Amino acid sequence: NPGGTKKTLGVRRGVSNAPFIPPIKSALSDDGGNRRADCRAKNYQEGNSGRVEPAFIEEDEDFDPRLKGIDKKLIELIKNEIMDMKSQVTWEDVAGLEFAKKTIKEIVVWPMLRPDIFTGLRGPPKGLLLFGPPGTGKTLIGKCIASQSKSTFFSISASSLTSKWVGEGEKMVRALFAVARVHQPAVVFIDEIDSLLSQRSDSEHESSRRIKTEFLVQLDGAATSSEDKLLVIGATNRPQELDEAARRRLVKRLYIPLPDFEARRQLVVNMMKKESNSLSKGDVDDISQLTKGYSGADMANLCREAALGPIRSIPFSQIENISPEQVRPVNLEDFKAALSQVRASVSEADLRGYLVWNKSFGSSD
Ligand code: ADP
Repeated sequence: NPGGTKKTLGVRRGVSNAPFIPPIKSALSDDGGNRRADCRAKNYQEGNSGRVEPAFIEEDEDFDPRLKGIDKKLIELIKNEIMDMKSQVTWEDVAGLEFAKKTIKEIVVWPMLRPDIFTGLRGPPKGLLLFGPPGTGKTLIGKCIASQSKSTFFSISASSLTSKWVGEGEKMVRALFAVARVHQPAVVFIDEIDSLLSQRSDSEHESSRRIKTEFLVQLDGAATSSEDKLLVIGATNRPQELDEAARRRLVKRLYIPLPDFEARRQLVVNMMKKESNSLSKGDVDDISQLTKGYSGADMANLCREAALGPIRSIPFSQIENISPEQVRPVNLEDFKAALSQVRASVSEADLRGYLVWNKSFGSSD
């Protein structure tokens, strides 16, 4: 249970008069977190919120007053496709990004775990923006925040609100936040948030304008309610597209850059851990040196391609009968061959753009 290593911060219960719903240790350790939200809903009734909650939440949360007027089908859909209570992600799973990780632990995770000491000015921000090149671990960090703060994770791509849920986008946004409130503490992760909160308002369709308005209303609701424990995380590869209204609401804006040498090393080591390989420490150094400019996702593709090397070296006629032990380990040559197939996907020009935006609007230097 790798997600349970930082449990000590979260098990102090019933502290002060904070309206926080303390995480329950057993819910995480028993079953990998499958019942986390249920336990929380129950706990919510027990009065930690300082509010009187109807007793029937436990039997059927669909009767929760917070879900009143929300389409049942949408609630089901959100629970099945958008809510994720199983992922256990630890900080060690996220390679590199030390600055972002440290900042997030301090300003987001600790306050969510210990609201009793992170009060007033120390309170957590309600909106966080993660920006940077694609494939650098923004989604992974979102999952990690949810996992480490013992929150329910909701993940949706903003572009799917306008495309996949045509005509339903606005209702979907409302439903999403309502379900998240029922399952709080919750992290709502919105990928490609630029497509929702962009500056192009003149050319917008009426429907996307309505989705945007609803989303801003929900964001403001999450930000002003001191009782609801919701953190909204927006992720984008195109921060330049965000308008002022979006920036104002996503108070903390963290640059998630490409992995540096050490992080690329870590990525290779992690990804090759489960593969039979003959890579020496020097080989891994070589690979990390040769992959300057690669994103985390590029590194994953590279490792996948290299892992096929041993298979490609098997004569076609033998592939049906060869035993797994006879497949040779992955070696440095496989990586060198893979390097010509898998290239860095992020351009220098894009990288410069992120640095410029970070200087103007980012929360780091
Ligand atoms: P993003 O949301 O920034 O586009 P993701 O978090 O979806 O990127 O990452 C895509 C994949 O790339 C992940 O599933 C993971 O395998 C890998 N990856 C990217 N960055 C990292 C990182 N910093 N640490 C570990 N894995 C990473």
